[in-house]
Amino acid sequence: MGVAEIAQILKNAVFPRFCVSCNKEGSLLCGDCFAFWQPGAMKIDESDAHIYSWQYADPVARQLICAWKYAYDQSAWEIMRAKLLPTLSTLRHLVHVQKIDAIVPVALHQYRLCERGFDQAVMISEFLGQELDLPVVPIIKRVRQTGKQAERSEQERIKEMKDNPFIISIPPPYEGGVGGGFPRSILLIDDVWTTGSTIKAASNLLEKSGVQKVWKYTLAKG
Ligand SMILES: [Zn+2]
Repeated sequence: MGVAEIAQILKNAVFPRFCVSCNKEGSLLCGDCFAFWQPGAMKIDESDAHIYSWQYADPVARQLICAWKYAYDQSAWEIMRAKLLPTLSTLRHLVHVQKIDAIVPVALHQYRLCERGFDQAVMISEFLGQELDLPVVPIIKRVRQTGKQAERSEQERIKEMKDNPFIISIPPPYEGGVGGGFPRSILLIDDVWTTGSTIKAASNLLEKSGVQKVWKYTLAKG
């Protein structure tokens, strides 16, 4: 038994996990519920150029995302990743047909990253980058801290996004701008689409900066 396994056993003993679906003790999604939970194919919303895997109303998806995002439980991401793997053909097809040449995460503000210790959008991007064989290029940066989505009303969120909280920040290999290696067609990644205001603010900025087409992927749609 490795150190990581021992650490996991100790962690489970101190903070036992319960299945988000049937409440059985042991893991966030027990074997039976894991087998039963079929997310199906990815959904495409053509009007917003948005692809997503789950409705946020799906209680299993919602609880896994919350466990990952707010309780920092990485096993939630492991479960979702395993369920995403057989559904990636939708994205593979899109990448091929739309000639998508890079993945861009909707980055967390530095402050929130420090508080949480990891960035879901970056982790989803790295997973998809590897599976779809695309580079992950962090060309947008969040310069303004916005409140936590879940704690604000829709009006507050829309008002807050009027002043774009992102800037384009191009790392050295892409500094030639459009035509100089700067991606033309992008898959922009975030964890959850609530009103879409955050990801749309990032998308607008990328399009103003010369990206021809921005497709968006989120794990769930609210
Ligand atoms: Zn269960």
